[in-house]
Amino acid sequence: MKFFGRKKPMSALDSLRGAGWKCASCDLTHKGMFHLASFAPDFWEGPEEYEPNGAIRFDGDFLSEDFCVVGGEHFFVRCVFDIPVHGLAEKFGFGVWSTLSRANFQIYLDGFDEGTYANLGPWTGWFSNRLAPFGDTLNQPCWVHPQLARQRPVITLGNEEHDLASAQARGITPERVLELYAAYGHVVS
Ligand SMILES: [Zn+2]
Repeated sequence: MKFFGRKKPMSALDSLRGAGWKCASCDLTHKGMFHLASFAPDFWEGPEEYEPNGAIRFDGDFLSEDFCVVGGEHFFVRCVFDIPVHGLAEKFGFGVWSTLSRANFQIYLDGFDEGTYANLGPWTGWFSNRLAPFGDTLNQPCWVHPQLARQRPVITLGNEEHDLASAQARGITPERVLELYAAYGHVVS
């Protein structure tokens, strides 16, 4: 294809490397790669609103940026699912939620402010978001790896054959990152 007198369109890699691009849907100019995040576990049916982390309650329902409790018996933590991107040093991050046992949830809470934990797991959990571009991800068994220095826990899938696990193992193309953005409402105009 020829571009008569026009500048070559920006490549996906250029967009992710920091060339600004005007988003056709959210009206922002995105610069470089940014992370996507699930606001809450898919099981959350309460208001789309965060309470402060410090207000954590174990009974009933609770949602903050990092912690979630449903019905006083299901405990969730906000994690990061990292995916390498071909051609970039920085990884793409998906903010996602996993369940934890009550005991591990307590260990996480106890160490949260200091960023050091009684043990570093990994802790078992169930993946608690649907990431449609990667097939069926909800309730996949997963590992939650607590990180030191107040970084969010990193999550890996138990099933290495899963599409999401292989994306993490092999990386994805910059074009695929733009497809993910589009699936979540950010479109290159
Ligand atoms: Zn956008």
